[in-house]
Amino acid sequence: MKISIQRENLEYFEANVKDITLLEFLNTIKITVDNTLSFSSGCRSGICGSCSVRVNSKEVLACSYKIQDEDKVEPLKNSQVIRDLVVNMDKAYSFNYVAKAWQSKDSKNVRLSQENEKINEVQSNCIMCMACYSACPVYSVNEEFIGPFSLTRVWRYLSDKREENSTQKINTIQTNGLWDCTLCNECTLVCPQDISSKADIEKLRTRSIIFGFNNPNIINFATSFDGSPNF
Ligand code: SF4
Ligand code: SF4
Repeated sequence: MKISIQRENLEYFEANVKDITLLEFLNTIKITVDNTLSFSSGCRSGICGSCSVRVNSKEVLACSYKIQDEDKVEPLKNSQVIRDLVVNMDKAYSFNYVAKAWQSKDSKNVRLSQENEKINEVQSNCIMCMACYSACPVYSVNEEFIGPFSLTRVWRYLSDKREENSTQKINTIQTNGLWDCTLCNECTLVCPQDISSKADIEKLRTRSIIFGFNNPNIINFATSFDGSPNF
Protein backbone atom coordinates (compact mmCIF):
# COMPACT_ATOMS: atom_id res chain seq x y z
CA MET A 1 0.00 0.00 0.00
CA LYS A 2 1.44 3.35 -1.03
CA ILE A 3 0.01 6.73 -0.06
CA SER A 4 1.17 10.33 -0.21
CA ILE A 5 1.15 12.74 2.72
CA GLN A 6 1.30 16.50 2.44
CA ARG A 7 4.05 17.69 4.76
CA GLU A 8 6.22 20.64 3.77
CA ASN A 9 6.40 18.75 0.49
CA LEU A 10 4.31 15.87 -0.77
CA GLU A 11 5.98 12.69 0.48
CA TYR A 12 5.27 9.05 -0.43
CA PHE A 13 5.12 6.23 2.11
CA GLU A 14 4.75 2.51 1.50
CA ALA A 15 3.95 -0.36 3.88
CA ASN A 16 3.08 -4.00 3.42
CA VAL A 17 -0.41 -3.80 4.94
CA LYS A 18 -4.00 -4.18 3.86
CA ASP A 19 -7.48 -3.54 5.24
CA ILE A 20 -6.35 -1.05 7.89
CA THR A 21 -7.44 2.42 8.88
CA LEU A 22 -5.50 5.51 7.95
CA LEU A 23 -4.60 6.03 11.61
CA GLU A 24 -3.14 2.50 11.83
CA PHE A 25 -1.15 3.21 8.68
CA LEU A 26 0.17 6.52 10.08
CA ASN A 27 1.20 4.77 13.29
CA THR A 28 2.97 2.05 11.29
CA ILE A 29 4.90 4.66 9.31
CA LYS A 30 5.81 6.57 12.45
CA ILE A 31 7.13 3.44 14.20
CA THR A 32 8.92 1.83 11.25
CA VAL A 33 9.91 4.57 8.80
CA ASP A 34 9.88 8.16 10.11
CA ASN A 35 9.29 8.99 13.76
CA THR A 36 9.03 12.71 12.97
CA LEU A 37 5.72 12.25 11.15
CA SER A 38 3.18 14.31 13.12
CA PHE A 39 -0.57 13.77 13.40
CA SER A 40 -3.22 13.97 16.12
CA SER A 41 -5.22 11.11 17.55
CA GLY A 42 -7.00 10.19 20.74
CA CYS A 43 -9.77 7.66 21.27
CA ARG A 44 -9.20 5.61 18.06
CA SER A 45 -12.94 4.97 17.92
CA GLY A 46 -14.49 8.00 16.19
CA ILE A 47 -15.52 9.76 19.39
CA CYS A 48 -12.91 12.39 20.26
CA GLY A 49 -12.72 14.10 16.84
CA SER A 50 -9.00 14.80 17.10
CA CYS A 51 -7.76 12.84 14.05
CA SER A 52 -9.59 14.76 11.28
CA VAL A 53 -7.63 15.07 8.07
CA ARG A 54 -8.43 15.27 4.37
CA VAL A 55 -8.11 12.29 2.07
CA ASN A 56 -8.38 12.91 -1.66
CA SER A 57 -9.77 16.38 -0.85
CA LYS A 58 -12.49 15.15 1.52
CA GLU A 59 -12.55 15.44 5.31
CA VAL A 60 -12.48 12.12 7.21
CA LEU A 61 -11.58 10.77 10.65
CA ALA A 62 -8.29 8.90 10.25
CA CYS A 63 -9.40 6.30 12.82
CA SER A 64 -12.54 5.43 10.81
CA TYR A 65 -11.30 5.69 7.23
CA LYS A 66 -9.94 2.53 5.54
CA ILE A 67 -7.03 3.54 3.34
CA GLN A 68 -6.80 2.76 -0.35
CA ASP A 69 -3.72 2.53 -2.53
CA GLU A 70 -2.65 5.95 -3.91
CA ASP A 71 -4.65 7.96 -1.37
CA LYS A 72 -3.46 11.51 -0.86
CA VAL A 73 -3.59 12.71 2.77
CA GLU A 74 -3.55 16.40 3.73
CA PRO A 75 -4.18 18.47 6.86
CA LEU A 76 -7.57 20.16 7.35
CA LYS A 77 -8.06 23.34 5.34
CA ASN A 78 -8.78 26.81 6.73
CA SER A 79 -6.59 26.29 9.83
CA GLN A 80 -2.95 27.08 10.48
CA VAL A 81 -0.79 23.99 9.99
CA ILE A 82 1.39 23.41 13.04
CA ARG A 83 3.25 20.45 11.58
CA ASP A 84 2.44 17.83 8.94
CA LEU A 85 -1.20 16.80 9.65
CA VAL A 86 -1.56 18.74 12.93
CA VAL A 87 -3.52 22.00 12.69
CA ASN A 88 -4.37 24.73 15.15
CA MET A 89 -8.14 24.62 15.75
CA ASP A 90 -8.24 27.47 18.30
CA LYS A 91 -9.72 30.00 15.89
CA ALA A 92 -12.66 27.74 15.00
CA TYR A 93 -13.21 26.82 18.66
CA SER A 94 -13.28 30.54 19.57
CA PHE A 95 -16.54 31.00 17.66
CA ASN A 96 -18.39 29.30 20.51
CA TYR A 97 -17.47 32.39 22.56
CA VAL A 98 -18.35 34.78 19.76
CA ALA A 99 -21.76 33.14 19.34
CA LYS A 100 -22.31 32.56 23.07
CA ALA A 101 -23.09 28.97 22.13
CA TRP A 102 -24.01 27.69 25.56
CA GLN A 103 -26.95 27.62 27.91
CA SER A 104 -27.68 31.02 29.47
CA LYS A 105 -27.08 31.46 33.19
CA ASP A 106 -30.72 32.35 33.78
CA SER A 107 -32.08 29.22 32.07
CA LYS A 108 -35.11 27.49 33.57
CA ASN A 109 -34.44 24.74 36.05
CA VAL A 110 -36.86 22.16 34.65
CA ARG A 111 -36.49 18.46 34.03
CA LEU A 112 -36.40 17.46 30.35
CA SER A 113 -38.57 14.63 29.09
CA GLN A 114 -37.20 12.08 26.61
CA GLU A 115 -39.18 13.89 23.93
CA ASN A 116 -37.52 17.21 24.84
CA GLU A 117 -34.08 15.62 24.64
CA LYS A 118 -34.78 14.19 21.21
CA ILE A 119 -35.28 17.70 19.74
CA ASN A 120 -31.54 18.43 19.75
CA GLU A 121 -30.11 14.97 20.27
CA VAL A 122 -28.26 14.96 16.93
CA GLN A 123 -26.72 18.39 17.49
CA SER A 124 -25.53 17.29 20.93
CA ASN A 125 -23.45 14.57 19.28
CA CYS A 126 -20.93 16.98 17.76
CA ILE A 127 -17.38 15.78 18.45
CA MET A 128 -15.71 19.10 17.50
CA CYS A 129 -13.67 17.50 14.75
CA MET A 130 -13.72 20.74 12.72
CA ALA A 131 -14.28 18.91 9.43
CA CYS A 132 -17.15 21.30 8.71
CA TYR A 133 -14.89 24.39 9.05
CA SER A 134 -12.38 22.80 6.73
CA ALA A 135 -15.06 22.17 4.10
CA CYS A 136 -16.88 25.50 4.43
CA PRO A 137 -16.28 27.80 1.42
CA VAL A 138 -17.53 30.86 3.30
CA TYR A 139 -15.10 30.36 6.19
CA SER A 140 -12.29 29.97 3.65
CA VAL A 141 -12.83 33.59 2.50
CA ASN A 142 -14.17 35.17 5.71
CA GLU A 143 -12.28 34.11 8.82
CA GLU A 144 -14.77 35.96 11.03
CA PHE A 145 -17.69 33.80 9.82
CA ILE A 146 -19.09 32.11 12.93
CA GLY A 147 -19.32 28.92 10.92
CA PRO A 148 -21.19 25.61 10.89
CA PHE A 149 -20.28 23.95 14.16
CA SER A 150 -20.88 27.01 16.37
CA LEU A 151 -24.15 27.83 14.61
CA THR A 152 -25.30 24.25 15.13
CA ARG A 153 -24.40 24.66 18.78
CA VAL A 154 -26.45 27.87 19.00
CA TRP A 155 -29.44 25.96 17.61
CA ARG A 156 -28.78 23.15 20.07
CA TYR A 157 -29.17 25.54 23.02
CA LEU A 158 -31.86 27.74 21.49
CA SER A 159 -34.07 24.69 20.94
CA ASP A 160 -33.55 23.59 24.53
CA LYS A 161 -36.75 23.93 26.57
CA ARG A 162 -34.74 25.39 29.48
CA GLU A 163 -33.38 28.34 27.48
CA GLU A 164 -34.81 31.67 28.68
CA ASN A 165 -32.66 34.13 26.75
CA SER A 166 -33.48 33.32 23.11
CA THR A 167 -33.32 36.98 22.07
CA GLN A 168 -29.68 37.33 23.07
CA LYS A 169 -28.79 34.14 21.19
CA ILE A 170 -30.52 35.31 18.02
CA ASN A 171 -28.99 38.82 18.24
CA THR A 172 -25.46 37.46 18.55
CA ILE A 173 -25.47 35.56 15.26
CA GLN A 174 -26.85 38.22 12.94
CA THR A 175 -23.40 39.57 11.93
CA ASN A 176 -20.87 37.21 10.29
CA GLY A 177 -23.34 34.47 11.10
CA LEU A 178 -26.42 32.84 9.71
CA TRP A 179 -27.05 35.22 6.80
CA ASP A 180 -23.50 34.77 5.42
CA CYS A 181 -23.97 31.04 4.89
CA THR A 182 -24.67 30.13 1.26
CA LEU A 183 -26.55 26.92 2.22
CA CYS A 184 -24.15 24.95 0.01
CA ASN A 185 -24.40 21.89 2.32
CA GLU A 186 -20.67 21.06 2.19
CA CYS A 187 -20.56 20.94 6.00
CA THR A 188 -23.30 18.30 6.12
CA LEU A 189 -21.56 16.09 3.57
CA VAL A 190 -18.38 15.76 5.65
CA CYS A 191 -19.83 15.52 9.17
CA PRO A 192 -19.01 12.12 10.74
CA GLN A 193 -21.94 12.54 13.15
CA ASP A 194 -24.59 13.17 10.48
CA ILE A 195 -25.21 16.68 11.74
CA SER A 196 -26.59 19.10 9.17
CA SER A 197 -25.38 22.57 10.11
CA LYS A 198 -27.07 23.80 6.95
CA ALA A 199 -30.44 22.60 8.24
CA ASP A 200 -29.73 24.13 11.66
CA ILE A 201 -28.86 27.45 10.04
CA GLU A 202 -32.14 27.37 8.12
CA LYS A 203 -34.00 26.84 11.40
CA LEU A 204 -32.09 29.75 12.96
CA ARG A 205 -33.08 31.94 10.00
CA THR A 206 -36.73 31.07 10.47
CA ARG A 207 -36.46 31.84 14.17
CA SER A 208 -34.72 35.16 13.38
CA ILE A 209 -37.54 36.23 11.09
CA ILE A 210 -40.06 35.42 13.83
CA PHE A 211 -37.96 37.68 16.10
CA GLY A 212 -38.23 40.53 13.56
CA PHE A 213 -34.88 40.24 11.75
CA ASN A 214 -34.57 40.26 7.96
CA ASN A 215 -32.04 38.80 5.57
CA PRO A 216 -29.65 41.79 5.10
CA ASN A 217 -28.52 40.47 1.70
CA ILE A 218 -32.03 40.82 0.29
CA ILE A 219 -32.38 44.33 1.75
CA ASN A 220 -28.99 45.37 0.34
CA PHE A 221 -29.90 44.01 -3.07
CA ALA A 222 -33.26 45.80 -3.04
CA THR A 223 -31.72 49.17 -2.09
CA SER A 224 -28.89 48.89 -4.63
CA PHE A 225 -31.21 48.08 -7.55
CA ASP A 226 -32.24 51.35 -9.23
CA GLY A 227 -34.38 49.77 -11.93
CA SER A 228 -32.36 51.12 -14.87
CA PRO A 229 -31.54 48.72 -17.74
CA ASN A 230 -28.17 46.99 -17.54
CA PHE A 231 -26.63 47.42 -21.06
S1 SF4 B 1 -20.75 19.54 13.28
FE1 SF4 B 1 -19.94 17.55 12.54
S2 SF4 B 1 -18.21 18.13 11.20
FE2 SF4 B 1 -18.68 19.92 12.47
S3 SF4 B 1 -17.33 19.78 14.26
FE3 SF4 B 1 -19.28 18.78 14.83
S4 SF4 B 1 -19.00 16.61 14.35
FE4 SF4 B 1 -17.35 17.72 13.27
S1 SF4 C 1 -23.97 25.30 4.33
FE1 SF4 C 1 -23.20 27.25 5.18
S2 SF4 C 1 -22.02 26.68 6.98
FE2 SF4 C 1 -22.29 24.82 5.73
S3 SF4 C 1 -20.47 24.72 4.43
FE3 SF4 C 1 -22.03 25.81 3.25
S4 SF4 C 1 -21.67 27.96 3.69
FE4 SF4 C 1 -20.55 26.81 5.27
